[in-house]
Amino acid sequence: MDTISTIGDVTVNGRTYRLPRQPAVVVCIDGSEPGYIESAVAAGRAPWFARVLKEGTNLLADCVVPSFTNPNNLSIVTGRPPAVHGISGNYFLDPDSGKEVMMNDPRFLRVETLFPAFQRAGCRIAVITAKDKLRGLLGKGLELAPGKACSFSSEKSGTATLAENGIEHINELVGLPVPDVYSAGLSEFVFAAGVKLMARDKPEVMYLSTTDYIQHKHAPGTPVANDFYAMMDGYMAKLDAMGCTIVLTADHGMNAKFGADGQPDVIYLQDLFDGWVGKDKARVILPITDPYVVHHGALGSYAVVYCEKPEPWIAKLKAMPGVEAALTKAEAARRFELPADRLGDLVVVSTKHKVLGTSAARHDLSGLTEPLRSHGGVSEQRVPLICNRKLAGPVDRRWRNFDAFDLALNLVA
Ligand SMILES: [Zn+2]
Repeated sequence: MDTISTIGDVTVNGRTYRLPRQPAVVVCIDGSEPGYIESAVAAGRAPWFARVLKEGTNLLADCVVPSFTNPNNLSIVTGRPPAVHGISGNYFLDPDSGKEVMMNDPRFLRVETLFPAFQRAGCRIAVITAKDKLRGLLGKGLELAPGKACSFSSEKSGTATLAENGIEHINELVGLPVPDVYSAGLSEFVFAAGVKLMARDKPEVMYLSTTDYIQHKHAPGTPVANDFYAMMDGYMAKLDAMGCTIVLTADHGMNAKFGADGQPDVIYLQDLFDGWVGKDKARVILPITDPYVVHHGALGSYAVVYCEKPEPWIAKLKAMPGVEAALTKAEAARRFELPADRLGDLVVVSTKHKVLGTSAARHDLSGLTEPLRSHGGVSEQRVPLICNRKLAGPVDRRWRNFDAFDLALNLVA
């Protein structure tokens, strides 16, 4: 297999990266609150992580707020905050159409990811995600073909084609059937496929992105969570043994969001605004919304509200227990580095154990089989940033999860 030139670098979105000297693997562990990995290590279930935490690089970083999946995955693969790449939620009110739509469509992504730029520099690229919802955004701009690049999801692994994904017969390669979309197996498939692809195709740049199905249900240190990280540990050890530089981070953390009665602790914003300004005069949007809401009931710690003259409501919201921040569009865009044209008139963030809903009647919580754990707020901003190699020298910065490729390619020995 040819290797690419090790001289030269690639500049994307104003950041410059060295070409990989070894295969660079960045892993986004969905919902991996600090503590999950450490607990699995403490339980003796994760020997690879134990070694890496001690001998590699073990940092904490801040993710992007809203601490949701799509904005953060796109930050990691573009190296920049949503103000630059445009993906401000999983779901938003499209100002062009006036309709509430998923933000999965690649046309909403305003800049290039690192992947096409590295492809032009001669690198082979592999992008693997658990749920198909991210595939279009992550694979945007790649020339998908065998020996060049592939981009696929565990969810749709059974129907991958050369034209759509740059790869086919994935289940035969991985030796696993298509997993259930609500299962730990959906994430395991990502790792298993990553290992098989690294062995067969030797991509120079690989991105693996899991789903937070386990993290929504199981706190750090619980048996099911430890099983999940033990599983991951085995696959990471295999990638490490193949010489990969591996950086692991998360798209967001995760916190318990229920009250003493075990029920979700919710502020129903649409109901509040209906009382304040009249029924449906304001419009509350929950950017956590996606087609897979069973495990969180679309309840997270971040909401945007479209309403006229938001100032008096901001003051009212700020005084409410459970509200961490109530900001105008301009304030939120500045503080969280968000695209102002894709926010509502005001942005609401709830505290660590509270979530925000629309109307009580509109949330189907029947799928919540465990007490609610969720994310979206500032309280879920801390995430791990771990590498199996040591920093080449001291670095003084506020680490972000979207420094993952910078770390892997520029900053470690
Ligand atoms: Zn996520």
